[in-house]
Amino acid sequence: MFPCAHIAEMIRGAYEGLITTPEKINDYIDGEDERVSSKLRKGLRIWRKLKYQLVEYNSLPAYLKDNEFILGYYRSEWPLKQIFLSIFSIHNETLNVWTHLIGFFLFLFLTIYTAMRAPMVADFNSVQHLSKMIGKADLNKIRLELLKCVSSLSNMPDLLKLNDLTTSLHSLDFHSLSGWTFVELLTNCLPEQFSLNGLKDVTMASPLIVQPITRWPFYAFLGGAMFCLLASSTCHLLACHSQRLSYIMLRIDYAGIAALIATSFYPPVYYSFMCNPFFCFLYLGFITLMGIATIIFSLLPFFQKSEFRKYRASLFFLMGFSGMAPIIHKLILHKNQPEALQTTGYEILMGVLYALGAIIYVTRIPERWMPGKFDIAGHSHQLFHVLVVAGAYTHYRDGLIYLRWRDSQGC
Ligand SMILES: [Zn+2]
Repeated sequence: MFPCAHIAEMIRGAYEGLITTPEKINDYIDGEDERVSSKLRKGLRIWRKLKYQLVEYNSLPAYLKDNEFILGYYRSEWPLKQIFLSIFSIHNETLNVWTHLIGFFLFLFLTIYTAMRAPMVADFNSVQHLSKMIGKADLNKIRLELLKCVSSLSNMPDLLKLNDLTTSLHSLDFHSLSGWTFVELLTNCLPEQFSLNGLKDVTMASPLIVQPITRWPFYAFLGGAMFCLLASSTCHLLACHSQRLSYIMLRIDYAGIAALIATSFYPPVYYSFMCNPFFCFLYLGFITLMGIATIIFSLLPFFQKSEFRKYRASLFFLMGFSGMAPIIHKLILHKNQPEALQTTGYEILMGVLYALGAIIYVTRIPERWMPGKFDIAGHSHQLFHVLVVAGAYTHYRDGLIYLRWRDSQGC
């Protein structure tokens, strides 16, 4: 084609373009819209990427500035969706969230496990209680019933023990049963084998076996621990969203700590003083009031002001420290009981773990020695969280000893 013909073609095309204006213009606008919107989307994506990037301590709003030794990897004022998703990404709160979330699931598991094993928690490590308890009973009758039951029990843990037990039962030698989870056998056999009529002439303390001692103080503690761990984990995840949410979450976190401290007292106090109702109610009443007062104080806005920080810390400390009184009292009251010493050992260990946690929390060790080096892993708050879970787990073990003790002895 000659150039002039080409030019003519172009002019015709342009003319046709002009005379078919409405459709062509719409197409043009649509195409342009798409191009603009794709550019916008791209821009938005880049902007979001930049906006939801982790930031440094210096660029945080004042209410999120808490630990000047953690220099980077902060999330700051993200929308809730991004915040919830950040549970699976790496930032300086990831391990704070997970340490207490795993702790929460651990205690949830322990609660279910304890509830399922409730009547069998009490294994008679010490036959001393057992012989005391069955001393009054018609041993021959118990022996016959247990022998009958032994052969029918299919879930016995090991055969050697079963043989030991059978031998002991034949010879009525209950003292050789040490280590055998005797209550497991009793709870499996006696409630079924002894009819109500049969119970009339059996003078043994069967209600103690058939109905283990009340568990509510133990479950109160487990509930307190779960509430504290879940509240703390949620607080660490969400507090960076906004000033308002941070304000709310911190209060829930404080309430969780107060609940954990208060309910930690329930098992030791209840099971140590269940036979002394006056002291039982005195100690339980005191710690419950302290717990409620601490929760109310932590919810009041003025309590959050920095000048009240030391009063807030003192209140938590006073709550924990007041545990000394019932522990010393328990030791005096039950000085001849091995369980009293054993539980005190656990309670001291728990105190050491909590105290160590508190010291690390306040001193901000180790990040103060090397600011910026422990931003993601190893900073004081994470160590504090691990020590809190370890302290609460120690307390759980402590509670199991109380249950065994009281299940076997009653009052
Ligand atoms: Zn925390």
